[in-house]
Amino acid sequence: MTKVVLITGASRGIGRATARLLGARGWSVGVNYANNEAAAHETAAEVGRAGGHARVIKGDVASEADVIGMFDAVIHAFGRIDALVNNAGIVAPGMPLADMDVARLQRMFDVNVLGAYLCAREAARRMSKDRGGEGGVIVNLSSAAARLGAPNEYVDYAGSKGAIDTMTLGLAKELGPQGIRVNAVRPGLIDTEIHASGGRPDRAAVLGSQTPLGRPGSADEVAEGIVWLLSDAASYVTGAVLDVAGGR
Ligand code: NAP
Repeated sequence: MTKVVLITGASRGIGRATARLLGARGWSVGVNYANNEAAAHETAAEVGRAGGHARVIKGDVASEADVIGMFDAVIHAFGRIDALVNNAGIVAPGMPLADMDVARLQRMFDVNVLGAYLCAREAARRMSKDRGGEGGVIVNLSSAAARLGAPNEYVDYAGSKGAIDTMTLGLAKELGPQGIRVNAVRPGLIDTEIHASGGRPDRAAVLGSQTPLGRPGSADEVAEGIVWLLSDAASYVTGAVLDVAGGR
């Protein structure tokens, strides 16, 4: 049977690379985006060229109504849901905490924490065996920042990803009996547009050269870890946090 996944933030970066790789494995993919509709349609086209099926789904993960609508859209399009990749996330310009205003902090935690929790909740409601589901898999996108802290740059983002690690550990225990595996991937410095959105387009290249492997990672390299955790090859893996960070 064709497996169905919702990937939040799949219009660009790690989400797009994951969608493409799952397409090549024959999955059907709900391609969520927030603003960049053209990029989401390009992801969907890449999934199709790779051999899968895709449906583009607009929605802000920080909105409960949008999140419920995203899951409804996946089930309407494909008839089921087997997996969630909780990938949508934001950074903001680097600065010390003392200079951060409340609007920035609010949005950081709304998208990166509340959004991830809402998406995991909807996945739990629809995949839990006690609620009529068939089980499934959740992969959450954390960050190496969760264990480094990102001082003077973005301690807000780092803390939001610490919450993702903890959510992963708790949900793995809560949802294991429901047939749902829950894991996280912690990317390091990955060459995507997220660094430009934080005001430093060259951040991955500059800091990546200082990592043990001497370079930034690619979105495709992170996608390989995510897809492995989604696959039956990882059938006894739950509550794990997989670093894909070049030794950083
Ligand atoms: P990216 O290239 O900036 O792409 C972000 C994606 O998230 C886009 O598809 C964007 O949609 C979507 N998005 C943003 N806010 C959203 C919202 N409120 N609702 C729904 N979608 C939203 O990011 P990336 O580098 O691929 O990062 C993906 C994940 O990996 C994030 O959770 C990030 O924190 C994590 N991560 C990345 C790195 C890295 O070095 N790149 C390192 C560690 C962790 P639009 O196109 O519509 O804007």
